Amino acid sequence: MNAVTFPERHASGPIVNGLSVDVEDWFQVGAFEDVIERGDWDGLADRIDRNVREILDLFDELEASATFFTLGWVARRHGPLLREVAARGHEIASHGWDHRRVFTMGRADFAEDIAKASKAIEDASGVRPTGYRAPSFSIDQRTPWAFMELAEQGYAYSSSVAPVSHDHYGWPEAPRFAFRPLPWSPLLEMPVTTALFAGKRLAAGGGGFFRVLPYAFSRWAIRQVNRRDARPAVFYFHPWEIDPGQPRVAGAALKSRLRHYTNLERMAPKLRQLLREFAWGRMDLLAYREAVRSEAEAASAGAPV
Ligand SMILES: [Zn+2]
Repeated sequence: MNAVTFPERHASGPIVNGLSVDVEDWFQVGAFEDVIERGDWDGLADRIDRNVREILDLFDELEASATFFTLGWVARRHGPLLREVAARGHEIASHGWDHRRVFTMGRADFAEDIAKASKAIEDASGVRPTGYRAPSFSIDQRTPWAFMELAEQGYAYSSSVAPVSHDHYGWPEAPRFAFRPLPWSPLLEMPVTTALFAGKRLAAGGGGFFRVLPYAFSRWAIRQVNRRDARPAVFYFHPWEIDPGQPRVAGAALKSRLRHYTNLERMAPKLRQLLREFAWGRMDLLAYREAVRSEAEAASAGAPV
């Protein structure tokens, strides 16, 4: 059962932020795309099982619920693991089939990619995903059809936009917080968190930024979002980020290797601190709350004065 859990102690307390894990293995990351062929994936050491189980134990210890955005490719090979993730109270959502970025596909290929991933996840876990996260936050101004396709395939929400400038991704003009990208659909997009500094948006929702920069930066950013903006943050990390024992990829660019391998051994303690200091929940819960909020805002904007 994919039950929504909501710890009592946070019921009327701090804002509950969205916690997410992008479930892909060390060889499936965008940074190594040029040196590892998709056709070779099956021959590489599988670290998903041990890493996801370690994350599940960490979440149990700190009473956090989360969403696991899982590749269809991974779901097809890890049925028992996905069922355990769901049984332990977490949401399983889609991260697409094999980590192709959305802006490298046309609409037909994207439609096939997300349909194939949904089916693999449903077959593996028994639950049809209602949330989607694009690989490398690759929905942007180039892919207006992506939201239409997600809505048509029955998704309730997406968390696929990084509203920031970055060398590999980003849609700097997008809203910083939850929005409805389509006038005819309730589909909600919940962008990954950014903080404002000197009028500029900084990526502050996890991944390499969380691992490489001092913890104080993330604390400052999430506090800013919760207190000044009074909105929930959306945070993500990957199973391979807590795994210092993963195989090293030779031949990748220095910048990619630095980003991928820095501070792996410090990730688990940092996550513990983050989970203790802020309240966290599943992305479907966040989507529900953001939808209620947007209804209330629309009602008050339209109310007679
Ligand atoms: Zn990913």
